[in-house]
Amino acid sequence: MSTPQRKTDIGPPHYKQFLPPVIQKNYGQWKYHEELSAGVMVHVSESGDEIYTVRVASPRLISTDFIREISDIADKYCDGYLRFTSRHNVEFLLSDKSKLEPLQKELKDKGFAIGGIGNRVSNLVHTQGWVHCHSAATDASGLVKVLMDEFYDYFTSKELPSRVRLAVACCTNMCGAVHCSDIALVGVHRKPPIPDHERIPNQCEIPSTIGSCPTGAISPDPAKKSLKINDEKCMYCGNCYSVCPALPIADPDNDGVAIVVGGKVGSLRNGPKFSKLVYPWLPNNPPRWPEVVNAVKGILEVYAKNARKHERVGEWVERIGWEKFFKLTGIPFTFQHIDDFTFARETWRTSAAFKW
Ligand code: SF4
Ligand code: SF4
Repeated sequence: MSTPQRKTDIGPPHYKQFLPPVIQKNYGQWKYHEELSAGVMVHVSESGDEIYTVRVASPRLISTDFIREISDIADKYCDGYLRFTSRHNVEFLLSDKSKLEPLQKELKDKGFAIGGIGNRVSNLVHTQGWVHCHSAATDASGLVKVLMDEFYDYFTSKELPSRVRLAVACCTNMCGAVHCSDIALVGVHRKPPIPDHERIPNQCEIPSTIGSCPTGAISPDPAKKSLKINDEKCMYCGNCYSVCPALPIADPDNDGVAIVVGGKVGSLRNGPKFSKLVYPWLPNNPPRWPEVVNAVKGILEVYAKNARKHERVGEWVERIGWEKFFKLTGIPFTFQHIDDFTFARETWRTSAAFKW
């Protein structure tokens, strides 16, 4: 039996103990909220209490120095209360209105970008990229940096028809929220892994590697005491490489970036939506990825010009039709847009109860 209030390091502590006192006091009794500027909003409760939010961008992969800096600012103006949103915006939460202006001044003086609230681009949610992950087909932090540089004005001031949520996942495992973002980038491989027959017998477990392939493309190669891959069946997902490091899939010439659009989480006006493919592949061209940035900019600008007020990207595309979307954006419609992968029916992941 657990002891009440016992402190352990198992599991996260209850979130309520970290809420600012004004939120604890008015929990579930908020009347309305209002956007005061691109980076400031106020929530007003039934009792008349108010809490102000000041949002700034973060680079997501952050240093301890950055955490110390924002913590010191939160101590000075917000009684220590700040939070990270799921897209890694930093939000300073103040109950004392008189500190709102001095907080914004200090943030500006220190070079923070204030914005991202309302019908704008907010911080990008992204994955690990070349910094951390073994299966990345593109970089995440690098792409996010160039996109945020390009869309800085859409974060700090310029308005769009509705909010636009951007995301980057550096492979199709998709640790980022690519499936439910308005415009999103996914790193893609385009060639099957190349088996390293020297290492496979020593480094990999044959049955679990065969079992890791969603399309059944891997089979034993008894003569070599190794594995072979049926290239026709391979969909370049990289799953086998996670299980067996002797099946490398990264390929600097063929890896690249796909773009999907039209996803959303919110159910305002209509239900959540899945994103759909619009660019099957663009080259990895670090450090500034000009082809990818131009493609995202092109989509965003056509959306900004044509969508109705409050229409999310996916809602706009559904209203005008995908055919018109491809016409307006000038994106070529190719065979990759047709979902006809022959071996998809054989996939072992057709249910939510995913089995190895
Ligand atoms: S999306 Fe893929 S490459 Fe990126 S962090 Fe996740 S598993 Fe790694
Ligand atoms: S797991 Fe993915 S990358 Fe590996 S062989 Fe199967 S389909 Fe190809």
